Amino acid sequence: MKIFGKMAQGLNIVLILLLIPSCINSASDEFNIENALGKENLVDILICGSGPGGLSAAIHGSRSRLRTLVVEGHTPGGQLTRTTWVENFPGQKKIMGPELMETIKEQAASFGAEFLSDSVVDVDFSTWPYKVTTEDGLVFHAMTVIVATGVSPASLGIPGEEEYFGRGVSHCAICDGPFYKGEDVVVVGGGDSALEEATQLAPYARKITVLVRSYRMRAIKIMQERIEDYPNIFVRYNTSVKEIIGDGDEVTGVRLLDRETKKEYMLPVSGVFLAIGSKPNTAFLKGEVEMDERGYLILKGRTQKSSRKGVFGSGDVESDRGHQAVIAAGSGVQAAIDAVKFLTEEVGLSTKAVKRLKKSYYAGLADAFDEQEVEIKEVETEEAFYDTVQNSKEPVVFDFYADPCPSCDVMLPLFKSVAKEYGKKAQFFKVNRDELVDVSKKYAVRNVPCILIFKDGKLVATYRKPVKNKKELSDLVETFVDLNNNNK
Ligand code: NDP
Repeated sequence: MKIFGKMAQGLNIVLILLLIPSCINSASDEFNIENALGKENLVDILICGSGPGGLSAAIHGSRSRLRTLVVEGHTPGGQLTRTTWVENFPGQKKIMGPELMETIKEQAASFGAEFLSDSVVDVDFSTWPYKVTTEDGLVFHAMTVIVATGVSPASLGIPGEEEYFGRGVSHCAICDGPFYKGEDVVVVGGGDSALEEATQLAPYARKITVLVRSYRMRAIKIMQERIEDYPNIFVRYNTSVKEIIGDGDEVTGVRLLDRETKKEYMLPVSGVFLAIGSKPNTAFLKGEVEMDERGYLILKGRTQKSSRKGVFGSGDVESDRGHQAVIAAGSGVQAAIDAVKFLTEEVGLSTKAVKRLKKSYYAGLADAFDEQEVEIKEVETEEAFYDTVQNSKEPVVFDFYADPCPSCDVMLPLFKSVAKEYGKKAQFFKVNRDELVDVSKKYAVRNVPCILIFKDGKLVATYRKPVKNKKELSDLVETFVDLNNNNK
C-alpha cells in the first residue's frame, strides 16, 4: 500500500507539473491581444453610464491615451442632473448638478473620451474581448468594461402607483414640479432625496407633506434643519402610503396608514413624488458577474475589480451606502486605474499592439449620430399649435419638453432619428410646456417628456413614460402612419 501510495504521490506531482504550464497558458491565452485582432468595434475601455463615476473613469482612461467610450445610458450625466445645488463636491463651493456634470463631461472629452447616446442592454463575458450590445443594436468588443450604471428610483409596489405614473405620480420633482402650481402634493421617503424633492417643489406647490414611514428620517441633519425654513413643507412621521387614488385620469389622493394608531385615512393631493431609495441598474449583468441578492456588484477587497477579470464597478452600483458624487468620482478613477493596469499587465497592450489593432477600433460616432442633423421645429404659439393640428394631412407628433429635464434631453435625439425615418409621412414638432401652458393643461400633459400624436385633427395617442429607445418611439408612430403614403 505504502509503495502504491508513494507511486500515486509521484504521479500526482507529474500531473501537477504537466498541468501548471497549461493553466498558465489558458489564462494568458484568454487575454491575448491576438484575440482582439479583427474584432468589430473594438474599445480599450468601455464605460457603461455617465454619472460622476463613469465620467471620472473616462477622464483617467483617456488621459492614459486609451480608447475610452462612454455609453451614456438613459440619463446622461446621471442622477446629479436631476438635482439643483451641489455643495459637497470638493473644489466647487456651490454648483448646479447639471452644470457640474457638463463640466466633467467636457473635461473627459477634452482628453479624447468618446460618448454615445445609447444604453447597454446585454453583455457576453464568456469570451474576451467582451461583447457589449446597446439598445440601438450596436455591438462593441471591449477589452475592459467599467460598470457605472448607478441606480434607479425604487417603487412602492402599491395599487395606483403604476396606473397613475405620469398622471400625478412622479420620481422627478425638478422635471414635473411646475405642473403642481398651487396644488397639494406628498413626497414619500425620509432620506436626502425626499427632502431635496420637497425643497424643489416648494416654489410651486401650495402644501408639501413629507411622509416618513418610521419615527425618524435618514436625511443628513443640515437638510432636516433647512426644511424647517419652508412654510409650505410639513412632515408626517409613522405614516405609510397604502394606495394612490385617482379619478381614472389623474391622482386625487392617497390612502394613508398611521402606524401608531393603526388607523387609515385619505389625504387629498394631486401629486405623489416618490423618493424611497433606489435599486442598482445591473439587470443586464445577470449571470456574468457576482452580485448580491439586491443586485449590487460584489467587488474584490479595496479594488474596483468584479468577479470577472477586466470588468470593474464604480459608483452607486457598489452598495447602497453613501451615494455621493465625490465617492462615485473617486471610485471611477480607481476603476480606470485598475483597468489600465489590467490592459498593460495582463493583456500587454502597448503602442506597437495598438498599431496592429488600429483597423479594428471603433471608428467613432459619425454614422451613429448622422440622424441628429435633422432639425425639429418648435411650435411657439397656441395658434400655431392648433393650426398645425387642424391643417396637417399627415399625423402630427409633438414632443413636450421642459428646461431643465434630463429625460427630455435623452428623448430629443431619438425623436430626431424617428423624424428622419418617417420623412414626410408624419410631421414632428417640439413644444416647451412652459410656453404653451394652456395647451399642456388641455391635453393633461402632467409630466415631461410626453409625446402626443394627432391625426385628422384629433388626439389619437398620449405617451407619458420616457421613451427608452428609437424602436419604442418608431413603433408608436408607425401605428398612426399610413405606410403606403409615398409622400416621402
Ligand atoms: P435612502 O435609502 O437614504 O432613504 C430612503 C428613504 O425612503 C428612507 O427614509 C426609507 O425609510 C424610505 N423608504 C424606503 N422604502 C420605503 C417604503 N416602501 N415606503 C416608505 N418609505 C420608504 O435613499 P435616498 O435616495 O434618499 O438616498 C440614497 C443615498 O444618496 C444616500 O446615501 C444619500 O445620502 C445620498 N443622497 C445625497 C444627496 C446629497 O448629498 N445632496 C442627495 C440625495 C441622495 P427607512 O429609513 O424607514 O428605511
